[in-house]
Amino acid sequence: MSLLSGRRPQVDVAAVRSALAVVEDPELRLPLDEAGMLGGIEAGRDGSVRVTVRLTTPSCPLKDTLARDVTAAVGAVAGVGRVDVAFAAMSEPDRMALASRLRGSRGSGHPFGPGSTTAVYAVASGKGGVGKSTVTANLAVALARQGKRVGVLDADVWGYSMPHLFGVRRAPVALKGLMLPVDAHGVALMSVGFFVDDEEPVVWRGPMLHKAMEQFLGDVHWGDLDVLLLDLPPGTGDVTISLLELVPDAQLIAVTTPQPAARTVAERVGRMALNARMPIAGVVENMSALVCGSCQESTALFGSGGGEELAAAVGAPLLGQVPLDVALRESGDAGVPAVLAAPGSPGARALSRVAADLPVVRRSLVGRPLPLSVVGG
Ligand code: ADP
Repeated sequence: MSLLSGRRPQVDVAAVRSALAVVEDPELRLPLDEAGMLGGIEAGRDGSVRVTVRLTTPSCPLKDTLARDVTAAVGAVAGVGRVDVAFAAMSEPDRMALASRLRGSRGSGHPFGPGSTTAVYAVASGKGGVGKSTVTANLAVALARQGKRVGVLDADVWGYSMPHLFGVRRAPVALKGLMLPVDAHGVALMSVGFFVDDEEPVVWRGPMLHKAMEQFLGDVHWGDLDVLLLDLPPGTGDVTISLLELVPDAQLIAVTTPQPAARTVAERVGRMALNARMPIAGVVENMSALVCGSCQESTALFGSGGGEELAAAVGAPLLGQVPLDVALRESGDAGVPAVLAAPGSPGARALSRVAADLPVVRRSLVGRPLPLSVVGG
């Protein structure tokens, strides 16, 4: 037997490099090589390959994900026996170059203005506690599972709950003044809650809120989104008005419970949207009848008819009725939206249907009077 018979052929470094072309940084949403994150690739004589990944920040929270994805891609290359992933930090000039590349040619301003191909939905409710955030989180994950690139901007300044609903307990990475949304269950997430102390009340006022909303749209690397969901604070306050001004192409999704009182206050939001010539994509009735798990008897805990009445009042379709379902509450508290954690539950199924039927098409500005101004009440 020849001494050389057990030896592997030398791994082709070019093949490793092209296998790595599919590995993306989940938050930059760019292939590592394009982002300047690919350091050296060394192939040993024993079939081992060592890949160095250069991180935008040494404390990068995505190390494990990157190591897993790099190992899987390189491990599939012919002749590779073992993959080692080493981490290094990007140099300052490289970080600068990456940040200006991500900002691209858009300069100041945000990427959701005229000419953008992202469909923007503003999810609103008349009052708090009707399940607006639960609906937003589940719609986002359901749309992402359909293969869409989805972003969520949690603009519910006083009642932000997206970090909790998505189970995110870390701040986003910042790159030279550009924030990278957190990748949460396949959704690009940005929340006011990432920047404020849980214990401290948010006391921002009108102009500050407007500035904050501008930054959340413009100083965040949203990338190429198919859909952006804006989780608005309840009612028709400053944040809502600012966002409608900043993204005049947004369409409203109004969330209400079946209760007449909730429907009446939600109607105010609908009226405001109509006054601002903002189209209403439709109404989601949440907390509809509770169906008993054992006897299947249906109880209209919060009454019935609110969704249909609101839809008729604002001249928009009823997109769906989401039953009261403990799975929605439990999965929200566990940080994994129900469409992922309990996809067979009645609540998750209803929300998946709403997402499937949502026309993810950007509304055209053609034929609409410009410039737009928001008129109250
Ligand atoms: P909002 O954003 O309108 O303030 P949330 O989404 O935070 O409302 O929901 C308020 C509470 O109701 C949360 O505890 C949530 O888990 C729960 N919830 C929302 N929708 C449902 C539902 N369909 N069935 C059961 N619980 C729900």
